[in-house]
Amino acid sequence: MCGIIAVIQERGVVAPFLHQALKRLEYRGYDSVGVTTIANNTLYTKKDKGKIEEVHKRLNLDEMPGLIGIGHTRWATHGAPSMLNAHPHFDCEDKIAVVHNGVIDNFIELRKELSEKGHKFNSETDTEVIPHMIEDFVKDGLGLIEAIKEVTKRIEGTYAIVAMSTEESDKIVCTRDGNPLVIGTKSGASYVSSDIPAFLPMTNDMILLLDGEIASLTTEGIHIEKLSNGAIVDRETIKISWTADQAKKSGYPHFMLKEIHEQPDAIKETLRLRPEIVKEAASIIKESENVYMIAMGTSGHAAQAGRHMFASLAGILPSFELASDFPDTVYGSLSEKDCIIAITQSGETTDTITAVKYAKQHGSKIIAITNVVGSSITRLANHTIITQAGPEIGVAATKTFMVQLTSLALIALELGEMTGFRNSKEIVKKRNSLEKLPELVSEVISRNEEKARRLASILHEKPSLLFLGRGISIATAEEGALKLKEISYNHAEAYSAGESKHGPIALVQNDYPVIFIAPSDDTRNRIVGNIMEMKARGAKIISVIQKDDDEIRDLSDYVFTIPEIVESEYSVMPYIVPLQLFSYYMALRKGYDPDKPRNLAKSVTVL
Ligand code: GLU
Repeated sequence: MCGIIAVIQERGVVAPFLHQALKRLEYRGYDSVGVTTIANNTLYTKKDKGKIEEVHKRLNLDEMPGLIGIGHTRWATHGAPSMLNAHPHFDCEDKIAVVHNGVIDNFIELRKELSEKGHKFNSETDTEVIPHMIEDFVKDGLGLIEAIKEVTKRIEGTYAIVAMSTEESDKIVCTRDGNPLVIGTKSGASYVSSDIPAFLPMTNDMILLLDGEIASLTTEGIHIEKLSNGAIVDRETIKISWTADQAKKSGYPHFMLKEIHEQPDAIKETLRLRPEIVKEAASIIKESENVYMIAMGTSGHAAQAGRHMFASLAGILPSFELASDFPDTVYGSLSEKDCIIAITQSGETTDTITAVKYAKQHGSKIIAITNVVGSSITRLANHTIITQAGPEIGVAATKTFMVQLTSLALIALELGEMTGFRNSKEIVKKRNSLEKLPELVSEVISRNEEKARRLASILHEKPSLLFLGRGISIATAEEGALKLKEISYNHAEAYSAGESKHGPIALVQNDYPVIFIAPSDDTRNRIVGNIMEMKARGAKIISVIQKDDDEIRDLSDYVFTIPEIVESEYSVMPYIVPLQLFSYYMALRKGYDPDKPRNLAKSVTVL
């Protein structure tokens, strides 16, 4: 995963910018960090194991000379997090510096070949073969761009690579295949990064770099070519509507808390999606024989809720499959009559991209739902819905989950109108209540934040928790359990409450915490039965209920309340909020940083 940033500018020094930009990319990985600049034909490097601010305290990342530099924050795939494995990596003569995101599959063979030629390696990474290969091609007389083109012919795997050389210190060269890179441009400076927020304070003008293209960045501008035939690419500049402030904490102690609080606005923005974009998605689905939803992690939970919305509002029940297992599940049974709804916050999730490519090979249509304009999935899809959450920095997804649900609800309503499964009066009523969700979610936050903090202080020592729901609320339970695992490292399991008595109930003994998602919908009465079963075995009952549900309140040891009855299709949206807040305060209570959970990174770009 990892975050890459590089800059070349006419005047000033680049180091303080690189340091700040890396902080904005830290959600992508934080095993180690490194920066290299060039001044007086020499590479200056500071890199070490640890998070950016820890390394900055030791090495002072702001004090480095030069108008050109590259930086990297790592999520290790090959080689433990350590100073030597931290990027950038270099050639034997310390003239070429490279940062990389991805995995070079054939690095063992390449490394052996290079070692036999006398190259000395300093790290265990797959990445380090790249600068050594560039070195050889440069020695053969090639310039940096041509040398990197040759390297791309030899390496297999996925990559975003950024390189610079003391011999050509007027440029940064970058290329990609399967991992993201976006270029930022303004007069007198050029930037390239894994993600837009890194350069947002400097420019809103972005140029996409696609797989199989190579770009050279100078202070004068950007030159892009196709790797396959050297054809020059004339790509338009896109104005990004995100602001630098959106990518800051704005007074909140953590991005996660800020993003939880931004959910009402994120829903509001997404509700303004252009109707023809939603209609197009609905018509593709309506025309399809089989409809599949594929996604991973939190997006997978949005997909599971989306299935219920489609079934209830439009009479169409798509299959849900984890993208990582999709090709192994469908066994080539896809056809051009089928449609895949692929949901990915970053638009770069490798599992999802791989499954989408597989489906395309079978001629199936692809609808992408993503939060990032220009991301890889948007270029593979027949049709894309861009959710309007703004940048999400916290590794544990919150507001992007909310906007995925909003988009799915909009499609389901449109589809409902098309199929006539619901009469138009019902659809109008459901539309109106969707419009009310921003206000409702905002009230849910203010009602439950303090309660979440208190519950965390009661439960933080519990090693394991069970989350139960029925119907669409299974998605809420799954997402609640995932949030808790991700950032507070408690063991948490989500189950259908119906299924819970077929096994998980064996775990329950005195004071074992069981969290019930119990909206006042068709599942409510059966949930009461499940609460009784758990209570009878001594469980500590925590429920998320509609505020007037006194019966469940009385059965529970602790309740979170939702101020109104909501349409069951949308219940995940308000009901997940107390559980997001609970996870956040559990992480704090246990002394963990909720924005940077161990072993995780936001955009999962490895298989
Ligand atoms: N494979 C490289 C490494 O382990 C890059 C990992 C990444 O993309 O974060 O250093």
